[in-house]
Amino acid sequence: MAEPLLALSDVHAYYGSAHVLFDLALHVHAGSLLALVGRNGAGKTTTARTILGAGVRSTGSVRFDGVELARIPTPLRARRGIQLVPEDRRIYAGLTVRENLLLGRHAAADGGALPLERVTSLFPMLEPLMARGGRELSGGEQQLVAVARALVARPRLLILDEPTEGLAPVIVEQVGEAVRLLRAEFGTTVLLIEQNAAFALDLADHVAVIDQGRIAFSGTRDAFLGDPTLTERFLTI
Ligand code: ATP
Repeated sequence: MAEPLLALSDVHAYYGSAHVLFDLALHVHAGSLLALVGRNGAGKTTTARTILGAGVRSTGSVRFDGVELARIPTPLRARRGIQLVPEDRRIYAGLTVRENLLLGRHAAADGGALPLERVTSLFPMLEPLMARGGRELSGGEQQLVAVARALVARPRLLILDEPTEGLAPVIVEQVGEAVRLLRAEFGTTVLLIEQNAAFALDLADHVAVIDQGRIAFSGTRDAFLGDPTLTERFLTI
């Protein structure tokens, strides 16, 4: 099999003297969606920070497209095609939706940014929001704008950190639909970090379970679903 687009091995991560990730290994193959699931505090966000190289100290190997990321400064990782949609979404309150989306262009890789019209034709629900201020958006609208802004940069790997957190079930469905659409349209590789295992499993090809900073399971979606004890042991229902 081809080398994974993203491969973590022997990864340890630390906040000061607190050791929070232990000997982590993860593979995300091009075009696939890996769901990284686990309880509160298991180490999911820290894994995303390790891939971005921001906010945490780590050791071990993180390879993206065959290149060791330790040698690539954080801002340049975006230009190589890695985009994170963080848990807090970081929509600029004082900018309109259009302006927020245009910010995505700065992180675009050499292939250039995606024109806004492509993004709005993919997500027509954005169209009526374009002139609205960031502070006027609901949580669901903010999430959609955050995903769309990441798409403008034409990522090869999109990392979504708990995109459903705090959203009503009907909006969660829309976020799921948005992820399906962008994969179908662009073939984007996705690392989906979630506590909401039902949502994640609906979209995933592969699943990794993280528990107390260690990978407790890694395999296909079917293998995960074939072992109901995994959910009982490692996930909050
Ligand atoms: P959540 O669902 O709450 O976001 P998570 O699985 O993303 O959980 P992390 O945020 O990665 O978990 O946290 C992993 C561990 O690292 C936890 O014990 C947490 O308390 C600790 N931690 C997270 N951020 C920091 C920080 N900035 N400084 C110190 N410890 C931290």
